[in-house]
Amino acid sequence: MKILIFNAGSSSLKFGVFDMAISDSRVFKGEFEHFKNGKCLLHYRVGGEEGEEKERGESLASVEDAIRRVPEILKEFGYDVFDAIGHRVAHGGEKFRDATLLDHNVLQYIESCTSLAPLHNPANLKAIMISSTFWPDIPQVAVFDTAFHHTIPDFAYTYAVPKEWRDKGLRRYGFHGTSHKYVGLRVAQVLNRSITELQIISCHLGNGASICAINHGFSIDTSMGMTPLEGLVMGTRSGDVDPGMFSYLARELGLSTEVVEKQLYSNSGLKALAGSHDFREIESKAAKGDLDAQLAINVCVYRLRKYIGAYTAAMGGVDALVFTGGIGENSAFMRRRICSKFDFLGLYLDEDKNQAVKLKSFDAPQIQSFDSRVKVIVTQTCEQLMIAQEVQYLLKQQKSQLKTKKWHIPVAVSARHVHLSQEAVEALFGKGHQLKKMRSLSQTEGWAAEETVEVIGPKGSFKTVRVLGPTRKQTQIEVSKTDTFTLGVEAPVRPSGKLENTPIIKLRGTVGAIESDGLIIAARHIHMSPEDAAKMGLKDGDYVDVKLGDGERGVSFSNTLIRAKQGYVTEMHIDTDEANAAGIAFRTEGELVMNERQGNADIVTKKNMRLHSLRT
Ligand code: ADP
Repeated sequence: MKILIFNAGSSSLKFGVFDMAISDSRVFKGEFEHFKNGKCLLHYRVGGEEGEEKERGESLASVEDAIRRVPEILKEFGYDVFDAIGHRVAHGGEKFRDATLLDHNVLQYIESCTSLAPLHNPANLKAIMISSTFWPDIPQVAVFDTAFHHTIPDFAYTYAVPKEWRDKGLRRYGFHGTSHKYVGLRVAQVLNRSITELQIISCHLGNGASICAINHGFSIDTSMGMTPLEGLVMGTRSGDVDPGMFSYLARELGLSTEVVEKQLYSNSGLKALAGSHDFREIESKAAKGDLDAQLAINVCVYRLRKYIGAYTAAMGGVDALVFTGGIGENSAFMRRRICSKFDFLGLYLDEDKNQAVKLKSFDAPQIQSFDSRVKVIVTQTCEQLMIAQEVQYLLKQQKSQLKTKKWHIPVAVSARHVHLSQEAVEALFGKGHQLKKMRSLSQTEGWAAEETVEVIGPKGSFKTVRVLGPTRKQTQIEVSKTDTFTLGVEAPVRPSGKLENTPIIKLRGTVGAIESDGLIIAARHIHMSPEDAAKMGLKDGDYVDVKLGDGERGVSFSNTLIRAKQGYVTEMHIDTDEANAAGIAFRTEGELVMNERQGNADIVTKKNMRLHSLRT
């Protein structure tokens, strides 16, 4: 499959051709930039990562002119037949959580998001319009910068502002999602671990800059907000400011919100502090003693360090800190400044390794010192490759959708319950006590015991919570989110057995009380045998969507984990909150929607290693 990618910005146009059949898949890379007085520069490379980077002048006045020139350029180098076109689109609002085939309605929705990304969405739309005129019969796909961040929890995306405003879509959306997703997957690959085991902070530092907390594979917070203006100090954008500034500037300087907004987007950030948005220039000015340039660097570094600290706290730890984007990839000086004084996290940089970084293609060197607990990694962002893979994935899914059967699976509701270790059983019910089986559960290896325990939180308790047998290694409490409010604890949504950093509370039995090893809100999941999984084209660790009911109260549960193991019977488990939302009393049947979100947007490197199992 040959895919043409457009990444149109406000002042540059990047484009590329990917041949997905070969491992060194980017066969053409182009970028128009530096538009001035009717002229611009074209950087290009033909023939994969080892191809020679070239540059030439072009008589083009704007990004729009450049988009129109692309077909001729591609023809010149022998690329004019494509199977699909992928477009990076900055803002997909609330609606788009995955790559989406473009049609009239999708275009209208992207247009309606323009006010949320005024520098970016108009450029993206131009590329879509122009390329669909040139190639009207080729499928065009939008890949959204906001999509990866749809897993950010409500308490992190909600702004504390009036409800009428929030109802109008005022919330954190986040951007650079494709970049952060690639970085997360690449780090897992480099560390030879599953991304679901890792806590990663990804720093994308280019003209636009953002930082993202990727907790066990999911974005849980990011510095850009409703618009790409919030967060870090950028080339021309301010990042975080006090919103009180707007009325102050209106009163004191008579500035309209339009003027203030324009200044915050185009004349703030490094440009306002140091007179240039080019970080190379600022570094060199600072080295010559320019105090403004020095201050600009200090402000930038300080804000970044604050976010790194905050995201470490938000995730309850960090395994890897990653740098990408023009500054992140190239400035050893900035990486050193940002990483200093993080000894308390167990993060130590090896300055020789840091200075030695010279990235080529898919390199992702580690630059921490030998005794550093936190890994520090530098990598290119490869957003275009990620977009090409998302496009390929979507089109393949669409093809197979025509043939795919609908899989109906039973859904059961799990009430709050407790798993105990044998040691805990004896402490709660007496020495030598063995759990007594009361009734079997649908999963043949599990059963409900006669025993119940009292679960005691700092605020409230549940008197008779069923114990499930057989005993396990750890004592684990599973409750609904509503239950956590009754108990007065804050618990994460986790797969069973992942108890690190979860609340430890008291359990009381007939003879004694103990502290549990942890308490979780169980991540919804589907048990199935590996054979059933294979029949459905799934495997352990995949995520799917499940549709329940198709009446007006029908719901769709996203991010449902597949737990495939010999002996499991196919059945989805949801908790009582989820059952209430879906209006289910005890059991029902759900429809597996595999074609939309099965995930596995593999990244394929030059060495053709495949890494996956993270859905968008
Ligand atoms: P964009 O967000 O436009 O894609 P890039 O990721 O290309 O931006 O990053 C551009 C920024 O990277 C510019 O500020 C540029 O000066 C900076 N940069 C590039 N190379 C270096 C370098 N060797 N040292 C410091 N900064 C660099």
